Order: sequence, then structure tokens, then C-alpha cells
Amino acid sequence: MNAVATALWAVYRSESFRFFRTAHQGGGYKMTASTFDEIRQVLREHQRFAILGHVRPDGDALGSQLALALSLQQLGKDVRVWNEDGILEKYSFLPRSELLTKPPATAEDVDVAIALDTAIQSRLGTVLAAIRSAKIWINIDHHLSNPGYGDMVIVDPSAPATGEIIFRLIKSQGLPLNHDIAENLYVAISTDTGSFQYPKTSARTFEIAAELVRVGSLDVGKISQQLYESHPRRRLELLRELLRTMRFEFGGRAASFSLTLKTAADLAVLPEDNEGLIDHLRAIRGVVVAVFFEELADGKVRVSMRSKDEAVDVCAICQKFGGGGHTLAAGARVRGSLAEVEGKVLEEIRGVLERKS
Ligand code: 5GP
Ligand code: MN
Repeated sequence: MNAVATALWAVYRSESFRFFRTAHQGGGYKMTASTFDEIRQVLREHQRFAILGHVRPDGDALGSQLALALSLQQLGKDVRVWNEDGILEKYSFLPRSELLTKPPATAEDVDVAIALDTAIQSRLGTVLAAIRSAKIWINIDHHLSNPGYGDMVIVDPSAPATGEIIFRLIKSQGLPLNHDIAENLYVAISTDTGSFQYPKTSARTFEIAAELVRVGSLDVGKISQQLYESHPRRRLELLRELLRTMRFEFGGRAASFSLTLKTAADLAVLPEDNEGLIDHLRAIRGVVVAVFFEELADGKVRVSMRSKDEAVDVCAICQKFGGGGHTLAAGARVRGSLAEVEGKVLEEIRGVLERKS
């Protein structure tokens, strides 16, 4: 970047950063502190990249990371793709999934670190320690609760998936897009929209999906089967146990179930096995808030929350417990026993539902 561009960029960024913070406190605005053109310039001018995603990754994080990595590789860049857990068994069908690894034990220098789909930097987990130095940190995400960490920030809460933002970056800047990239982006968008069902799914989402299917000659049936009809049997065994603990509160407007460490060990489930099971609770008529409590080995409980009503903001509820996410899907890790955390969280939900009614 030449000196003039650098200076202009710094001014622009600081202005937008202020706007970003104000907008964020007001809630619900589109928050873009950097432009795709600026990101493109940084991508062009540097060689060594680390593309990072959050702990307990989902299809959006993994697909977005692989898509951007493959596009940069096509440009001849040197790209590392890291997350704390590496690739998950259920996403191992993703094109070039072998690129995604756990971070190395010895920290490395890179020119640019790019965090994708990661609401707060600490959700990068062990990946954070693997970057010894990076000249520039880029933060691309769609979580409303993202505070805008990093040197360059694109946070667009109107996007139903980070994959949609990556598509727009690739498309607007003429970056490489081939079959493998298209399939990774399609998976990112399909999984984070609940198969094109959640409210942020827009005409633009379908247009992007259509373009990905066309450009990549994607076999949608095959991808869907790999995503939604290839579960290990133990996932259903887990669901059976969770349903035994299902309870309803507040006139049936809240539904929850819980997983103890013992049940998880008895069934030999992997953390990834429970992704999406909470949807069974959300799908019940009359339920506004669904909660999944999962006992963790570190003395905390993972709380996963869903809402069916924009007026019941589960991101705000989870933020009270140190978590975050989106208005209709959020989470937190809360210290305490399962019973304590269930009590505290349900009490908070009671307050929100009572204020609403
Ligand atoms: P899930 O319930 O599927 O784990 O997560 C739902 C949403 O909430 C995701 O977008 C995720 O990024 C966010 N989320 C889940 N757990 C946490 C957490 O502990 N902290 C923050 N900040 N966000 C979380
Ligand atoms: Mn996402």
C-alpha cells in the first residue's frame, strides 16, 4: 500500500469504526468498516495468509475458510487454514478439506490473519496462540455481537452466513471461483440458513446459491445427502436421550433439554453430533425460545439458544452470560453446575418473556 492510500485508509477506517460502534449500540444496522476494495488490495499486496475460524466449527466457518483459502491459493498465495478442532468427520467431504488443520505447536509469522465467522477473537481458541505476528488482522463475520476487532472489519449482520459475504468479496473483486470454491460456499450458506429456511434467507441468498450451483455445476442432491442424510447412528441415540430430558416452561413458550457428561460418554458422542438437534425444540408449535444445555469437562455449561420471535433477542440474553451470536441463534459458556446454569438461564428467559407479554 502506498503512503497516501495508507493514510486515507487509516482516516476512513477510524471514521467508520466510530460509526460501527455507535450503530452497534443502537443495534441492527449494517456494520461495514472496511470495503471489499480495501480488502482486495491487502490480499493482492501480501503473500502469507492464515485463514482462521471459531472453535467447535460449523459448516459456515469451515466452508468459508476453505473457499477463501482456495481462492487465494489460485492467486499463488501461501495459505494456512486453521481452527482449534481441525476438520470434522461430518464435513470431511468438503472439497480440499485436508487443507484445514489444527494450528501448529510452534507459532508462525504471517502477513495477514483473517478471522471468519468468529464473533469474538477469543472464540479462535488455540489458533490465536499459533499466530506469532501478523501485519494485518482482517475480521469478516455476520454476528450482530461482533465488536469489530482487527485492523480491517466487515461485519454484516444482514448476511445469513459468512459464506455469503465471502461470495460477495470474491465476486466483486474478480477473485478465482471454481467448482471446489463454489461447493464450499454453498455448504456454508446452506448450513447457516438451515437449508434456506431461516428469516435472513433473502432473494439475494437464493441468487447466490443459484450462481454457485451454475458456476460449480454442483450436485445439490448429493451435497444435501452428505450434509443432512449421513448422520452417524449415535446422533439419533443422543437425540433419544435428550428428548427424555425435554421440559417446557412459561406456558410452553420455552423448551429445553440437557446433556450430561455421563450420557455423552456412555454414547461416545462427538461434540459435532449435537449440531442442529436444538431445532427439534424450536420446531414445536408455541415454543418461542429453545435451549440446549451441555455439561462440559471444564466446569462450564455450553448454552445454545434459539428464538422464533425477533422481539425475543437470544443474543442479548446470552451476552448477559458472556456469550453472543445472532438475534435468533446465540450461545454462551457459563461456569457452574448443570442445575445452577439451567436455573439462572431459565430465570433470565422468564424475565424476557414476561416483559414481552
Ligand atoms: P450454536 O448454538 O449453534 O453453538 O451457536 C449459535 C450462534 O451463537 C453461533 O452463531 C455462534 O457463533 C454463537 N455462539 C455460540 N456460543 C457462543 C459463545 O460462547 N460466545 C459467543 N460470543 N457466541 C457464541
Ligand atoms: Mn455463521
